[in-house]
Amino acid sequence: MIRADLLLDGIGDLATVSGPPSPRAGDRAGELGRIEDAAIAISDGRFAYVGRSRRARREVRVRPGGRTIDLGGASVVPGFVDAHTHLLFGGDRSDELIWKVEGLGYAEIVRRGGGLYSTVRATRRASTAALTRAALTRLDRMARDGTTTAEVKSGYALSHAGELRLLGIVPALSASSGLSLVPTYLGAHAVPPGPAGTRERYVEEIVRKTLPVIARRHLAAFCDVFCEPDFFSVEEARRILSAALSLGLGAKIHADEFELSGGARLAAELKARSAEHLLRTPLEDREALGRAGVTAVLLPTTPFASMSGTRSLGREMVDAGVPVALGSDLCPNSWVESMPIVLSHAVYAARLTPAEAIVAATANAAHAIGAGDRAGAIAVGRPADLAVFDLESVERIPYRIGSKPVQVYRQGIAISLS
Ligand code: ZN
Repeated sequence: MIRADLLLDGIGDLATVSGPPSPRAGDRAGELGRIEDAAIAISDGRFAYVGRSRRARREVRVRPGGRTIDLGGASVVPGFVDAHTHLLFGGDRSDELIWKVEGLGYAEIVRRGGGLYSTVRATRRASTAALTRAALTRLDRMARDGTTTAEVKSGYALSHAGELRLLGIVPALSASSGLSLVPTYLGAHAVPPGPAGTRERYVEEIVRKTLPVIARRHLAAFCDVFCEPDFFSVEEARRILSAALSLGLGAKIHADEFELSGGARLAAELKARSAEHLLRTPLEDREALGRAGVTAVLLPTTPFASMSGTRSLGREMVDAGVPVALGSDLCPNSWVESMPIVLSHAVYAARLTPAEAIVAATANAAHAIGAGDRAGAIAVGRPADLAVFDLESVERIPYRIGSKPVQVYRQGIAISLS
C-alpha cells in the first residue's frame, strides 16, 4: 500500500513526460507519456504514485490529516522548466519599445548606447537587495504561470566582481522562491565599455580569473557565450568554453540569432550541452547539432518581442533530429515570464506540435540545464512539481493563447495563485 499526504484524482489528461533521462528527438520529440483518467499521489514532496485512477483507489491510502482533491477532469503537466532566462537585471527598457516600432534592429539599438549597455548600467547601480527583490517578483509571476525550475544567467555586470555578485544571489533566490534554479555564467554577454584593448583584457580575465573562481566556489553549472558579430567571435567563444569545460562546467552558447555566427557549429564541435536562439542556423549546422547531441534551446517569443520578422526554427530542428528545449529569454528586451505564452509561440510561430512543445518545455528543457534527473517529468520518486490546467487536454495549453494554470504544486505544495 502506498501512503500519501495528497492524492490528486480525477485527472482527465496527464502528460507525465517520464522516460529515459536522455532528451527526446526525432520520432520521440512529442512523446508525452500520457495517461487518461489518472491520479497522482504525493508523499513528502515527491511523487509516490502516478497512474490510472482506478488502480490508485486500490493502492493508495491517504494518511490521516492528508487530502484527496478531485480535479474534475483537468489536464496536468510537469512543472515547466524555463531553460533560458536573464532573470537578474536592474531597470527595464520600456522606453526603447518606440525605437523597435520605428524599425531599429537590436544591434543598432546597442550601437546607440541603449539596449544591453543601459541594462548593464542599471544593474551595476542596483543594490543586491534591490536586484533580489526584483528577481523574486519575476520568479513569483513565473511560478504562477507554471514554471517550477529555471535557468538563471548572469551577464549584466560584465566585470569579474559584478558577475560573481550576480551569481551569488541565485541560491538565496532559490531558497526564498522555492523554485529550483540553475545558475549559468554569461560574463561573455558583451564586451564591457572601455578603451582599446578592453575586449582582449576581458576575455583574458574571464578565462584566467573569473572562471576558476566560479568553478572553485560552484557558483555556476554552465558557462555561456554570446557568439555574434560585434559581441564575441567563434575563436573567443571556443577559448572561453574550452576553459569552462576543462574546469568541469557545462557549455552553452548564444548562436546564430542576428547572423549566421558559426556558434552552432562550434557547439557541435565542443559537444556543448546546448546552443540557444538559432534563428539563422542552416540545415548542415542543424544536422551537426543533431549528430553531436546538442540540445537546441529555442526562445520563440524573442523574434516576436525583437520585431525581427524571423521565427524560431522549431519544425526544422525536430526534422534534423535535434532535441529541442524552450525558454522564455526573460530579459529587458523580451520580457516574458509565462511559459504557456512561450508554448503558444513554439507552436504557432516555430511550428512544433503541441506535444513537442510540452516535451520541449519539460523533459528536454530539464536536460538542457542539467536537471534531467529531477525536473521535467511526473514520475515516482521525483520532486512533485506540476501544473494543473482547467482544460480538456494538454494540447489545449498552447492552443489557447494565454492559458493559465488553475493550480501549481512545487514539491507537493500548492502555491498561492491569489
Ligand atoms: Zn539570452
